[in-house]
Amino acid sequence: MTLDPSQTAVDTVLIHSGRAGETGPVNVPVHRASTILFETVADLDAAKGKRFAKGTVFYGRFGTPDTFAFEDSVSALEGAVATVATPSGLAACVLPLVAFLKPGDHVLVADTVYEPTRTSLNAFIRRNGVEVEYVDPRADLAPLIRDTTRMIYLESPGSLTFEVQDLPAIAALARGRGIITVCDNTWATGYFCRPLELGIDIVVQAATKYIVGHSDAMLGTVSVADAALHQPLREAANWMGYAVSPDAVYLGARGLRTLAARLKQHHATGLDLARWLEGQAGIARVLHPGLPSHPDHAIFARDFRGASGLFSVLLDTTDRAVAVRFADSLRLFGLGFSWGGFESLVLPGDPAHARTATRWDEPRQLVRLHAGLEDPEDLRADLAQALTQAFGA
Ligand SMILES: *Cc1c(COP(=O)(O)O)cnc(C)c1O
Repeated sequence: MTLDPSQTAVDTVLIHSGRAGETGPVNVPVHRASTILFETVADLDAAKGKRFAKGTVFYGRFGTPDTFAFEDSVSALEGAVATVATPSGLAACVLPLVAFLKPGDHVLVADTVYEPTRTSLNAFIRRNGVEVEYVDPRADLAPLIRDTTRMIYLESPGSLTFEVQDLPAIAALARGRGIITVCDNTWATGYFCRPLELGIDIVVQAATKYIVGHSDAMLGTVSVADAALHQPLREAANWMGYAVSPDAVYLGARGLRTLAARLKQHHATGLDLARWLEGQAGIARVLHPGLPSHPDHAIFARDFRGASGLFSVLLDTTDRAVAVRFADSLRLFGLGFSWGGFESLVLPGDPAHARTATRWDEPRQLVRLHAGLEDPEDLRADLAQALTQAFGA
């Protein structure tokens, strides 16, 4: 049975894609391999000749059937023609930069990108003679395009502060000028937003987050709308020596089976908490693109089908000690990096030090929250008691 993804809801496609076969185990088993054995030298040579082609089992580092099944499922999720799995989300962010940028090229980067992506651009891509220019995520990019502009790198909504970018407008600007557009779609996943269908060329994701979904593996994906972009990405993954753990791939493939059900709950709980927090004493602002109060809500409503569970609040205080007391008082929200797992998380954040093209001069304390799959009423009660602890004491 093959499903026509254009005729089938993505919820259904995620259940039926990347299967082992019509009979036998439902999921593709874990393949642990370095050496792949061939019958004849001719077979070995043939595999070597097409080692960068999708689905070739040649040597463990290039992927095995479980990797390829996972990549096909992510392609179905994103509406992509092909996907390359990478050892982490950051490895996915870096891969298009390495594959397509050369000395003398100019790249425009949204100022609100995930901070380690910025570190890689500054420390590694820049060192190789690429001109990296950070831009306001809401700026009109037309005046900033140069003859040497080769790529526009976006992330929507932006890390920590959730600015939403006008992906169709930026894609239209780049098209026909030889500019490759890349969007980090980790927050929404293809379930809530499909940048490739909005005209973006490459989508990167930290599958570590919602796709794995259980905070127990590192994994990334790079998906393309045009098959011509696929082989250069595979080759660059090889230059970098990327090898994806088969156990991580298995957990990613397994996570995809429940992605739709989990994301619906993250959406509902996140929005519910965001709306409630908006009216609470001690909360100055809620930064959630699904709220009508968000400055980019109209673009969000146009381009996204829903919101995941990650958003920020500005506490009504400039005193970091209050924010620390709030975070430390939460019992159900764990304190730690990353997100997208089943559990609720809290993280005090400081956007100011991680941007250069825009200024974050908001003096009030920012705290990022991840709405997990706990009972929403329990989460609300926990936030209420922590606000009382932080401000009341
Ligand atoms: C977490 C994250 C990454 C990096 O993913 P890792 O798997 O932790 O390397 C990249 N982009 C965004 C937006 C993220 O939140």
